[in-house]
Amino acid sequence: MNFEIKGWCPGALRPMASGDGLVLRIRTRNGRLEPGQAQAIADLSWSLGNGMMDLTSRANLQLRGLDARGHGKATAALARLGLLDDSPEAEARRNVILSPFAPQDGAAWQAAEAIARAMTAPDAPQVPGKFGFAVDADPPVLAGTPADIRLRPQAEGWLILPDGGDWALTARHAAQAAGRAVELARWFTQGGVRDGRGRMRDHLRRSPAAPPGAIPLPPSLLSKYPCDRAAGPASADPAGPGPAPNGWLLGFAFGQITARQLTEAAALGPLRLTPWRALLIEGASRPQIGGAILDPSDPLLRVHACTGAPGCPQALADVRALARRLAPHLAPGRSLHVSGCAKGCAHQGAASATLVATGPDRFDLIRDGRPGDPAGLAGLAPDRIPPLLR
Ligand code: SF4
Repeated sequence: MNFEIKGWCPGALRPMASGDGLVLRIRTRNGRLEPGQAQAIADLSWSLGNGMMDLTSRANLQLRGLDARGHGKATAALARLGLLDDSPEAEARRNVILSPFAPQDGAAWQAAEAIARAMTAPDAPQVPGKFGFAVDADPPVLAGTPADIRLRPQAEGWLILPDGGDWALTARHAAQAAGRAVELARWFTQGGVRDGRGRMRDHLRRSPAAPPGAIPLPPSLLSKYPCDRAAGPASADPAGPGPAPNGWLLGFAFGQITARQLTEAAALGPLRLTPWRALLIEGASRPQIGGAILDPSDPLLRVHACTGAPGCPQALADVRALARRLAPHLAPGRSLHVSGCAKGCAHQGAASATLVATGPDRFDLIRDGRPGDPAGLAGLAPDRIPPLLR
């Protein structure tokens, strides 16, 4: 392994150093931004960052290219916008993804808010970095979104599902579901955390006994939430660019969005961030944002590429430039992940083809796997790769 595992994600109060300066992650409330908040963030990106931002797979927004002074100014501005937590610890524990299609103030919305409140309270379960929740709505769209605990509404009541488990907890209503999810997180902390790290799936492998009140997971859900999703196939995002129940989804190559694009989007309505690195504009119809992906068949939507060089100090190659060159060669229905090192930040799941940089112009190819899996071909030069993608 030639990369550093940090075990935590950047936040607003705890930014992460990268090759292009500090990365500041904004964890919006339930993934929603009012137009004024989005415009203000775009202004911060212009004035304090490098004008580039990331839409992350945790449905957050990252400012890039800040220095220490800019970071201080940015956090003060975020506090004024109501987008800052009280402490880095509270910020890290408030790791809740809500379905971007969940109606505002509906049951799923309220469940996600209740979890966020509980996880930032003084008596919150002390979960490790990266431990997170996903709150789905009806119809569910977050089955492919990694989460340690997920909440799923049923025809009557809710299921609370631990990642990697073959059982679930039940609840009659959203408030009870949120409470049970937080109690499940507390149950996890009693044995699931080692050296400050841990994930639910690993805990259940070691200690498969379920807590009191658990029911066996219905077979129909076992297929949707396989016990070991890490070994599951590459899956397409459930929602591509186009109309959505509450607005219009726009795609952005590699989840990269500029301050100008965010300004244009903010002028059209409130925004929802999604775990598919797409942006939903509430109430919009066929919005025109320069450089956004509108065509659901655009092969760039099936390509994952991390920041790579020069933005990431661990990167061995400029992977986004290569990913753009390779996208037109990708056969329909196939996915590609180009990673600057074996850490694989851009995509946790498998891809039809995964390229891992081993030097500025050398890549290992893994078929139907992920970075870290055994490579089928090693040391490929970029011009040898296109025929291998068909
Ligand atoms: S996967 Fe990419 S972004 Fe992540 S550490 Fe490696 S080079 Fe950097």
